[in-house]
Amino acid sequence: MMNFGDQLRDELDQIEAAGLTKRERLLTSPQGAHIMTIQGPALNFCANNYLGLANHPDVVAAAHRGLDAMGFGTASVRFICGTHAEHRELEKEIADVVGMEDAILFPSAFDANGALFEVLLTDEDAVISDSLNHASIIDGVRLSKAKRFRYENRNMEELEQRLQDAQGSRRILIVTDGVFSMDGYFAPLEQITALAEQYGAVVAVDDSHATGLIGPCGAGTPARAGLTDRVDIITGTLGKALGGASGGFVASTAEVVALLKQRGRPYLFSNAVAPSLVAGARTALRIAREGDDLRERLAENAEHFRARMTEAGFDLLPGSHPIVAVMFPGEDGARQASAIAEDMLKLGVYVIAFSYPVVPTGRARIRVQLSAAHSTADVDACVDAFIASRDRVAG
Ligand SMILES: *Cc1c(COP(=O)(O)O)cnc(C)c1O
Repeated sequence: MMNFGDQLRDELDQIEAAGLTKRERLLTSPQGAHIMTIQGPALNFCANNYLGLANHPDVVAAAHRGLDAMGFGTASVRFICGTHAEHRELEKEIADVVGMEDAILFPSAFDANGALFEVLLTDEDAVISDSLNHASIIDGVRLSKAKRFRYENRNMEELEQRLQDAQGSRRILIVTDGVFSMDGYFAPLEQITALAEQYGAVVAVDDSHATGLIGPCGAGTPARAGLTDRVDIITGTLGKALGGASGGFVASTAEVVALLKQRGRPYLFSNAVAPSLVAGARTALRIAREGDDLRERLAENAEHFRARMTEAGFDLLPGSHPIVAVMFPGEDGARQASAIAEDMLKLGVYVIAFSYPVVPTGRARIRVQLSAAHSTADVDACVDAFIASRDRVAG
């Protein structure tokens, strides 16, 4: 029998043989449109730095102030002695921006989703989940004892079927990503909330790729659709548009938040978000809230990129979100996408190729993420690199 180390080596070899090994690229500069890696400089098109706040001077200065005023760490979970006045301030400000009664912070959005379902649902209840929901939703749902139903991504006939299947449950919760991160597609909230009303379900939206950048004041996908009142729960992250450090939240009614503070395990048993991050996130949230100019810049960049890429003959998934999937369909697609992404890096443009099992077989793609920090020249350089690498890889 193989020993422990050999067993793991064997597993790693299988991952490598399947071409699935993920490798870290080491950065030696802060996050931004222009970054430095140990291999050299690059234009970055794969960060969740939608508003360019990850290294914004005001956010950095606020984090310094938080550090100086409140120290490095809380050395406690929230409910023992780890809640600073500023945690509550940030929670109220998040709730206010997304249009909910209250909010609760977690160490991450992964933990927010880890807490939510177990607290709200028992074996008398049902949860209905979109098939492309984020891994943290899938894991969070697994932690609850609720009956589980799944519908194909954005398929509203299937959602209705599942709602019928779930009838008789004490509670029915529909959960969806607000934006699907591999496609840049929005969840059809209009139809989801209408079905929820018809079948007596509550709706939770994970707006991690939307808070700060989508909707009026960056309030997210429910606000974009004018449906804030029809959505019961919004989860989100401080790790993307809102400064990109770490922290997550659940925003909802006072009762949902109160119950999460009694029973949410990542809230009860994991450390409070550090003071510097809380102070930085408050400033990032304020900049985002007032950041119509940033959202406009971001939308222009996405539009310009989509227009030029389409003109150059690339196959894009349609939409308006700054996540843009450049498709390389078919049998050879995975190889093409990864060869082009690799070649683009040699031209100083950093993008990432995704293939099976992250996306369905035959649906390989390069996912590009635009930022308000990109200049038009940066976006043009990205498109030019796509064209050059396509020619070089084909030729
Ligand atoms: C990024 C993301 C998360 C995880 O966010 P963290 O705060 O980094 O844990 C959760 N849900 C969705 C939909 C995400 O895109």
